[in-house]
Amino acid sequence: MSGIGYDTNILQCTGDNSAIIVLPPCMNYTVNASPEIAANSRVAIIGAGITGLSTAYYLQKSRPDLQLSVLEAGTQAGGILQTVHRNGFLVELGPDMFITREPEALELCEELGFADQLIPTNSENRGAFLVHRGKLQKMPEGWTMMTPTSLWSTITTPLLSLRGKLRVLGEYFIPRRKESSDESLASFTRRRLGREAFDNIIQPLIGGIYTADPEKLSMNATLKAFVDMEREDGGLIRGGLKQLRNRQSDTTSTGARYGMFVAPRDGMQTLADAIVNVLPARTMEYGVQVTGVQATETGMAVTVENDSTKREYDKVIVTTSSQITAELLRENFPQLSETIDDIPLSGANVLCMAYARKDIDHPLDAFGIVCPIKENRPVIAISISSQKFAGRAPDDHVLFRVFVGGALQPNLLDLTDEQLIQSSREQLKELLGVRGEPLFTEIVRWHKKMPQYHVGHVELVDSIEAQVAKIPNLELAGNAYRGVGIPFCIRSAKNAVQRLLGNADA
Ligand SMILES: Cc1cc2nc3c(=O)[nH]c(=O)nc-3n(C[C@H](O)[C@H](O)[C@H](O)COP(=O)(O)OP(=O)(O)OC[C@H]3O[C@@H](n4cnc5c(N)ncnc54)[C@H](O)[C@@H]3O)c2cc1C
Repeated sequence: MSGIGYDTNILQCTGDNSAIIVLPPCMNYTVNASPEIAANSRVAIIGAGITGLSTAYYLQKSRPDLQLSVLEAGTQAGGILQTVHRNGFLVELGPDMFITREPEALELCEELGFADQLIPTNSENRGAFLVHRGKLQKMPEGWTMMTPTSLWSTITTPLLSLRGKLRVLGEYFIPRRKESSDESLASFTRRRLGREAFDNIIQPLIGGIYTADPEKLSMNATLKAFVDMEREDGGLIRGGLKQLRNRQSDTTSTGARYGMFVAPRDGMQTLADAIVNVLPARTMEYGVQVTGVQATETGMAVTVENDSTKREYDKVIVTTSSQITAELLRENFPQLSETIDDIPLSGANVLCMAYARKDIDHPLDAFGIVCPIKENRPVIAISISSQKFAGRAPDDHVLFRVFVGGALQPNLLDLTDEQLIQSSREQLKELLGVRGEPLFTEIVRWHKKMPQYHVGHVELVDSIEAQVAKIPNLELAGNAYRGVGIPFCIRSAKNAVQRLLGNADA
């Protein structure tokens, strides 16, 4: 996931792949040992985003005898993975890359024979700018997410006052927190690194990743590695230095082999297509808007818009967003539906704007910009797509993606297209000296598409999983539960398949 919505690669603030910290979500749930699934059983997978598609892939891989139906409301596979080709630009409307250190996405690509399609981020101009007092400042070298591991860059960064710098360096001496309860990102960061580091660096960097309110964002659900670092190593500086030492000797991990972030050369949607291509014919059913799920004597039935006949299956896996999943379960599983509805959702508008290079004054020597909320600008982040990956814009052209809205500026979600274009152009002009008209602008509104992992999220998901475990023939998977990034969605799919098959073969 990432800075700029989930554009994780903007977080390559060190300019050094090896120094980025992985954010494993909690994976502490138990596998529901359901009985062995009968031969030739009919299984419906609702939703053909990356979660639904990988669910279908792993199911058919483990049990080719099963009759799978992927029921998708839209006309194409991929869900949020959407790539548009326009005037020689390759425009990602949703995610534009995935992390390799969490292995599931890379493993899937390798199994599909798709790994040779993956390209790394460009080796030049890595890093991100932060907006500070209206000006762009580079993220200090050696800061990896929340861990300041370079004394020099912490002392010299213009992002912090002398007092703020001393407070950050004093983190080394701050004792561990005694309580083990969940904590918000804001509380954790202010406690360990101080208010200034939170306001000027951590809020825009990490709040931006999740388009979240950091006063509510759960450390346990999103940044558990840092909680563990405090508990096990005594603090972020101590833990960061230890990780740095360990990583320098690690040249064998997938991240080391491929680079920390990769993207399909021809766009994220080609990954979805690659999965569809290996599924048995007639698995995919497009234009099927499921309206409800209910238990039957022998399995499950789903109702579909404009179709009075119930479709009967032996098993159903729902992979839609939490809001839609709650709707589909509302009538027949009201308590479960209500619990799922407790997962808040935020959204963002993404403006993909194409320009001629000659119309931009700035050297564009970074992958993008993140903007602290205290700067009071109508933008969460600006990703410079054509700096991150090859082939995103023709020569002498630049492709920006401007992220607007999020949990902290929900009032901007409903701006008209004209208002969004005007305010984004103003931001591009002020921050990067972008002049003139964009060659084109693609606007996509991802409203209620970004699940918010608030304090207590892990317990909420434990409760959802405990309720699902009591309902025979039903499984849930998706980005609402234990990780929003693509590898986590695939992991969620694999776990659902494993639970459904009642074994560890998946
Ligand atoms: C703007 C943005 C940028 C992101 N960037 C990154 C990134 O760079 N890297 C990263 O790893 N992650 C990123 N993410 C997160 C990641 O893209 C998502 O978490 C992931 O794609 C979700 O996939 P999914 O299959 O769970 O859900 P979805 O993609 O939402 O798929 C659900 C599918 O269900 C279908 N559906 C909905 N209702 C029904 C119904 N009633 N009946 C049948 N079908 C239905 C939908 O049409 C859709 O196809 C980003 C997310 C956003 C919004």
